[in-house]
Amino acid sequence: MAELKGLSESRDLTRIERIGAHSHIRGLGLDSALEARAVSEGMVGQQSARKAAGLILQLIRDGKIAGRAILLAGQPGTGKTAIAMGLAKSLGQETPFATVSGSELFSLEMSKTEALTQAFRRSIGVRIKEEAEIIEGEVVELTIDRPAAAGGGASGSGQSSSASKTGKLTLKTSDMETVYDLGAKMIEALMKEKVQSGDVITLDKASGKVTKLGRSIGRSRDYDAIGPHTKFVRCPEGELQKRKEVVHCVTLHEIDVINSRTQGFLALFTGDTGEIRGEVRERIDTKVAEWREEGKAEIVPGVLFIDEVHMLDIECFSFLNRALENDMAPILVIATNRGITTIRGTNYRSPHGIPADFLDRLLIISTQPYTEEEIRKILDIRCEEEDVEMSMDAKVLLTKIGAETSLRYAINLITAAALACQKRKGKIVEMGDISRVYQLFLDVKRSAQYLMEYQSQYMFNEVLREADENE
Ligand code: ATP
Repeated sequence: MAELKGLSESRDLTRIERIGAHSHIRGLGLDSALEARAVSEGMVGQQSARKAAGLILQLIRDGKIAGRAILLAGQPGTGKTAIAMGLAKSLGQETPFATVSGSELFSLEMSKTEALTQAFRRSIGVRIKEEAEIIEGEVVELTIDRPAAAGGGASGSGQSSSASKTGKLTLKTSDMETVYDLGAKMIEALMKEKVQSGDVITLDKASGKVTKLGRSIGRSRDYDAIGPHTKFVRCPEGELQKRKEVVHCVTLHEIDVINSRTQGFLALFTGDTGEIRGEVRERIDTKVAEWREEGKAEIVPGVLFIDEVHMLDIECFSFLNRALENDMAPILVIATNRGITTIRGTNYRSPHGIPADFLDRLLIISTQPYTEEEIRKILDIRCEEEDVEMSMDAKVLLTKIGAETSLRYAINLITAAALACQKRKGKIVEMGDISRVYQLFLDVKRSAQYLMEYQSQYMFNEVLREADENE
């Protein structure tokens, strides 16, 4: 598969990604009945939103669903991004999860629809199965394509039609020629021994004798279809219970990139992919469709998370509307902290700045402000994550600050207070360290208050001008 050359080497590296602010989130913290545990996997509170996200997770795991869109809506700092991260962590390695922020789409390097297309294709996985060569003396599996109407067994046409069934037969051979050359004799022996798909057998080259060793995987009654159209796949000994194929999991975007230019594969490291031509994508789509038809590839719809979705304009929303109709579309999770606001690119106002026709498609999950107790628990987790030891008093003070300002501000003070503590050669962050950094760094409210007081001393004072205009 030339389209994939160079990809497997780069794959592990491109997956490495750490988002500091959410590094304590390891999942959604749900039990097996998808109920949210009070504190689990780094997650605190926000139970109903987490439970709703858990249902989405279940939908994704059940597979094959595409084109759903979910909106996480709530005030700033109420864990919308954290829940999306929790969802990503629970999905596991194989399900692609791409994240993009609304404002990133308006870059100078490419059009916004190209940036969206790339984001979509980064969240569509292709699981590609490759057949490995048979090496002498190895255990092999035979994949049998049995035409539905084939009563005549070995004389089947060899063409796999859409009505064909596939079975697996695991063989052990001491010599690959045995499998290839025995031909009719082998088929006869297999039928005589009533070998079924999934049996593990050995073949003796000289006599053509078949000995059953046990059962592996597969369905029965497929042996009548063994013939020239059977395919061989490698199955290392000891792994007989597993269906053994060489499987790559890549995203459509990765396939696009490596095929879009000669040094395409290097662009996966730098992220500097530029615009990808439509013909390249068409070619890849056709190829992937062929692989799907041949049973060599499956589409794995992943998740695309768009944060700050109110930053998208009306054209982006109409693009999303269309993109979700595609049968390969991922699950789209979007988030915003805006209330009723103007839809970018129009003079209309609407809930969350999202056009009514797109809103109508969404399942909406709302997040609620945290209680003081929940803030304290989140701060506890963050202290542990940042390896900061803090006294009880200091934690109480920081929690109070968090409740009165914002959770994010309080989280930010942890590192700053730890530095203040280090500076005075202390080991444990005390109340004094917290108040020190509280005075050094303003929260939004105090900063706004300061600006109001000293507005006359700033250049380009908009507040004064607005006041003048109103008079
Ligand atoms: P905004 O609207 O401003 O983008 P948001 O709702 O996306 O905010 P987050 O960024 O998810 O908020 O939360 C702020 C910080 O608090 C992050 O560090 C996040 O990991 C942490 N946090 C939020 N909610 C939880 C939670 N329920 N459990 C643990 N940590 C949380």
